[in-house]
Amino acid sequence: ERAREILERAEERGDNRLGVEAMGLLDAYGIPTPEGTVAETPEDAVSAAQDIEDDVVMKIVSPDILHKSDIGGVKVGVSPEDVYDAFEDLVTRARNYQPDATILGVQVQEMVDLDSGTETIIGMNRDPQFGPLLLFGLGGIFVEILEDTETRVAPVSEREATEMVEGIRSAPLLRGARGRDPADREAVVESLQRLSQLVTDFPAILELDVNPLVAGPDGVQAVDVRLTVD
Ligand code: ADP
Ligand code: MG
Repeated sequence: ERAREILERAEERGDNRLGVEAMGLLDAYGIPTPEGTVAETPEDAVSAAQDIEDDVVMKIVSPDILHKSDIGGVKVGVSPEDVYDAFEDLVTRARNYQPDATILGVQVQEMVDLDSGTETIIGMNRDPQFGPLLLFGLGGIFVEILEDTETRVAPVSEREATEMVEGIRSAPLLRGARGRDPADREAVVESLQRLSQLVTDFPAILELDVNPLVAGPDGVQAVDVRLTVD
């Protein structure tokens, strides 16, 4: 019950909004996440990057900053020798944005190949009338522009999850339009079902977004998460 522990720890801190520190929740439900840890010091960040043995992505971890890139809180493609300074820079940016922000650290995360994958979003919003509404759509900038999403009430069957993935207007993009590699749509369907299970098991989760869930030709990677708990 690692998932329960993560939610309890947040409750003890008094946070009802969680970010990437809740990646473990997805992990516990078998939704693939890139390798990553939350470093509390620049030294920890350097050693986390050494474990990854490649360029990394670094993100500010703060319950007060949920849209990290809006404040310059995400650095993609950081080389090992830049990790130390990047840590300090991210913390400085967060402090400049909100001097009294709670800063839990900096996430050091493995790079995910966005060129061969498509950014999608899976999420849940608990509706007072309908209950937990699961959502699927394209992620990144497309989600707002196209308003191309499918929703179903959780828990969803495999068939309903498949309908969601195949039902968006942009589905041909996932099937490999214009010479792109087809995305692993079965893995997307599976992730939706696993998310459905997670929000069914924890009614205290009021809303949750995985954005992006990168759908590659060979599986998916949940790169970012945020959620609100009761
Ligand atoms: P936020 O949504 O809070 O701004 P994200 O973690 O979603 O922060 O990061 C913003 C964007 O940076 C993502 O939509 C993605 O394009 C890119 N990105 C984030 N993490 C990775 C990663 N591990 N590999 C490659 N690109 C990433
Ligand atoms: Mg995001």
